[in-house]
Amino acid sequence: MKTERIETDFLCVGAGIAGLMAAIRARESGVNVVVAEKGNALTSGAGGAGNDHFVCYIPEIHGPDIKLFIEELMRGQMGLIGQMLGPSQTEAWIRKTFDIVKLWDDWGIPMKYNGEWKYSGHSFPGRLRHHLKYQGKNQKKILTRQALERGAKIMNRTMVIELLGDMNGVTGALAIDTREDRFIEFQAKSVLLATGGITRLYPGISPAVMNNARLPLNLTGDGRAMAYRLGGEIFNVGLHSNHVGLKNFARSGQGSWLGVYRGPDGKPLGHYVSEPDKDYGDILPEVDKKLFARILESGRGPVYMDCTGVSDDHLEFLIHGLINEGNEAVANHFKEEGVDLRKNPIEFMTYPFTGGAGQIYCNANMETSIKGLYAAGDELTSSISAASVFGWLSGEKAAGHAKESSSSNIDKCRAKIEERKNLIDSIQNRKAGYDWKDANIALQKTMADYTGGVRSEYMLKAGLNHLRRLRTKIDDSLVAKNRWELIRCIELLNLYDLGELIFLAALDRKESRGEHQRVDYPYTDPLLNGKLQIIKRVDGQTRLEWKTVVHAIQK
Ligand SMILES: Cc1cc2nc3c(=O)[nH]c(=O)nc-3n(C[C@H](O)[C@H](O)[C@H](O)COP(=O)(O)OP(=O)(O)OC[C@H]3O[C@@H](n4cnc5c(N)ncnc54)[C@H](O)[C@@H]3O)c2cc1C
Repeated sequence: MKTERIETDFLCVGAGIAGLMAAIRARESGVNVVVAEKGNALTSGAGGAGNDHFVCYIPEIHGPDIKLFIEELMRGQMGLIGQMLGPSQTEAWIRKTFDIVKLWDDWGIPMKYNGEWKYSGHSFPGRLRHHLKYQGKNQKKILTRQALERGAKIMNRTMVIELLGDMNGVTGALAIDTREDRFIEFQAKSVLLATGGITRLYPGISPAVMNNARLPLNLTGDGRAMAYRLGGEIFNVGLHSNHVGLKNFARSGQGSWLGVYRGPDGKPLGHYVSEPDKDYGDILPEVDKKLFARILESGRGPVYMDCTGVSDDHLEFLIHGLINEGNEAVANHFKEEGVDLRKNPIEFMTYPFTGGAGQIYCNANMETSIKGLYAAGDELTSSISAASVFGWLSGEKAAGHAKESSSSNIDKCRAKIEERKNLIDSIQNRKAGYDWKDANIALQKTMADYTGGVRSEYMLKAGLNHLRRLRTKIDDSLVAKNRWELIRCIELLNLYDLGELIFLAALDRKESRGEHQRVDYPYTDPLLNGKLQIIKRVDGQTRLEWKTVVHAIQK
């Protein structure tokens, strides 16, 4: 297979929101930037079809005390991010939000609604509101243009498959062209991992429909798996979260829904709102995302999002929100099926097993435990606001590192490069074997059966053995009939790595916490509050440890 070699100061892996913001900032800081994107920067990733709620602190609106804003924000689903980042890093994020919002507005992403900063959704009625309603449908096109105008080189259809370097520092990455028979060897002084969230590790809400997923099909935790293989630290693996959304039409994005969650008897499930309201909507899923599953399991369900009686202008606001939040397909589906939200309540459900594969640990400078390797976006937190702010900051830090570093050398990694190339060749050239779908279904079933319900040492050990048996088989027999299948196969190998980490982390976490419920340790250990469970590979062995993390981003 042909090989091309590209040298750059800074390589961004992933042209999502975080990757593009990092590329823009690093170019402004005067270094060369290449962005390697598996799909197409114009539409790829979780932000590809749009988002519409942006956490943003505006002192003129919220008052001078940023702590009050953060306190209120932490009551909803953003509380999980705050707990994980710690107070000072959370404050650094929030303090930067308005600067980024003003930049985006200048660049042409409409951050105002009818000429005003409009807050709606994700907040409790009558309290301080933190989610700015914006119109993000074209955000990827605009950010891509900004990156290109500043001279970043964006390489679409380029999937990074392995980081190069060692625990002392990253030197580059190996990638493949997703359409043509070609490897790309990147040599870089700094590398950012911004490959987004993760899907396909657990069964979807309608397992027979492969792409009916909350996130795009090709977000498979590649960054986390590659960071782990190089020796980077991944934290809080195995702590799943949930999401709430439409039944049978898996979609992220809760904030646009402005109706009331009700049971089949028509009674509201919560006490926050009693009729559709475009300023607040029903915040119940952020109070308890599992509630919807419990109601269904108890036989009292189904549960509905009820917008009946909504006024015409509020309905227009809702549809406008869906279109901007990457959910135009949902709006179109309603139209095609004749669903009238003024008359028809819509069935909703808890989506189980979101997240779960942990995040990449970074220090106060956005640097991972490996010199020159950075992480941002859903690799580190979640939400568009955090992805854009931390993307920006990581681009600044990575550029600073590149300026101070002498050129790197990937030739020391020749053995690893050849080993990965041989792996790709064998997947492509095998005449028979398991295809990616077989291997994916087996993985999802194993993860759901052994880590999906209440956990115990017996179940986790049995599941881990089973997963390792499967892994040996697929390592020797995965087969791809074309380039598209080849990409799915490589993603699967990353997913298998992450699946194994979930078992190891769950075995090591001797307590129950959130979705991690151990029948043999049925209590939450207060000594682990405020700590991150770190999993990493040292000298070929997996090591687990606990770390207390609270850092401010350094100026
Ligand atoms: C429908 C929907 C609505 C949402 N609405 C909101 C909202 O209103 N407010 C909010 O705060 N959040 C929202 N979110 C979440 C938000 O979109 C994400 O938090 C954010 O986009 C994360 O940015 P990111 O850069 O980390 O990842 P992404 O934007 O997902 O980008 C990751 C990129 O990496 C690329 N990539 C992956 N692997 C590789 C590889 N190996 N090599 C090269 N490239 C790779 C992907 O193709 C992708 O382009 C929503 C999500 C969805 C799906």
